[in-house]
Amino acid sequence: MLDFTLSEEQLAIQKLARDFTNKEIKPVALEFEHDTEGRLAEEIFKKAAEVGILQLPIPVEYGGSEGSNVECSIVLEELAAGCGGVATAIGANWFGQTPIMIAATKEQRDKWFPELAVKHEARLVCMAMTEPAGGTDIENPHMHSRTIRTILKDGGDHWIINGNKIWPSNSGNSYLYSVVCTVDPNLGDEGSCLVIVPDGTPGLSFGKPIRKMGMDADRNSEIIFEDVRVPKENLLGKVGDGARILQRTLIYNRAGTGAISVGIARGAFEIALKWARERITAGIPLIQHEIISAMFADMAMEIEAARLLYLRAAWFNAQPGKASMKWSTMAKVYASDMAMRVTTNAVQIMGSYGYSKEYGVEKYMRDAKIIQIYIGANEFTRQVITEEL
Ligand SMILES: Cc1cc2nc3c(=O)[nH]c(=O)nc-3n(C[C@H](O)[C@H](O)[C@H](O)COP(=O)(O)OP(=O)(O)OC[C@H]3O[C@@H](n4cnc5c(N)ncnc54)[C@H](O)[C@@H]3O)c2cc1C
Repeated sequence: MLDFTLSEEQLAIQKLARDFTNKEIKPVALEFEHDTEGRLAEEIFKKAAEVGILQLPIPVEYGGSEGSNVECSIVLEELAAGCGGVATAIGANWFGQTPIMIAATKEQRDKWFPELAVKHEARLVCMAMTEPAGGTDIENPHMHSRTIRTILKDGGDHWIINGNKIWPSNSGNSYLYSVVCTVDPNLGDEGSCLVIVPDGTPGLSFGKPIRKMGMDADRNSEIIFEDVRVPKENLLGKVGDGARILQRTLIYNRAGTGAISVGIARGAFEIALKWARERITAGIPLIQHEIISAMFADMAMEIEAARLLYLRAAWFNAQPGKASMKWSTMAKVYASDMAMRVTTNAVQIMGSYGYSKEYGVEKYMRDAKIIQIYIGANEFTRQVITEEL
């Protein structure tokens, strides 16, 4: 049987996310750009913790809701329809939680999940992967972890970390850092590691938040590790497991970025549709011009197609043993290219009002751009798809 309906539980979580977006995010979405200290975003994350969104994937026994990749993706679409930056930061928080979900021992889960599941404050997790010398190469399995320059040294009863990351979402405002590193880049994947670094660990520091074209609610900066010491038990799996954990983590998050793309496209589409119904040109509503109405039909079809793709990917990822790099990457690439086309057309249809900061549609276009780049630039991720064929 093929069934395209969401379950009652999924509809309830979708409604929660939609209500949250309408009440908390949409009214302030245009203000994040001016919120250079990130205070407004902090308030939103705190509220997202209170209603259980930040902890959605964490198992119920630890205080989360055990949302699968399907529920998480549905929520991301809703959040992104209000603000891509909020959705990116929350999706990246789950990105950072995923290595723990995949590879932590019972003792590690017992330690970190209850700490992350609290509702009285936002305890974000940061997935620290990208380095100054390159992001794509670290994600590229053919590079076999040889380009990682964040070094993990055995200090006897603890690990010592030295190196630099740049760009990770939630850098500087996270509770935990899931850090991709290596004991020796020359060992290739055999040296790769994923280690958890709590905020406040001596030697861990951050650069200034980087000013960007969009996604302003998401905080990105350099992360500096100078003789950062963490207990031996903070290593996930063993030395040599880092590459495997990272590749698996990317699968879940790529489906999520497909969902964020759909939310962003939908947000821009809805504003442009309302505009085109009300704006009169050549004596008729804009939407009645054949060329404009065809643009809306194309946009609507592409949004629906991308939604089906991310749901299909997330559905695979939610089945035991079926997580799919191919489907998740297809969802990410197709949906992010689609979001760029749809948001650009939405601006076009609204003319100079679309280009204006007052009407909110250009923000979607700026936010959409990075999804073609982050978590695997689309030129590289197209190769990932081809290799999976
Ligand atoms: C808002 C935002 C959020 C982010 N969140 C995170 C996060 O949570 N965690 C994290 O670790 N990083 C994060 N990043 C970083 C992001 O994932 C990287 O910047 C991205 O992977 C690209 O790496 P790079 O910038 O070093 O570009 P490079 O790797 O230098 O690539 C530049 C360009 O070269 C081309 N290219 C590169 N390699 C290939 C190839 N093999 N084949 C074909 N073309 C190629 C592509 O066109 C690519 O866009 C974030 C960045 C931003 C802006």
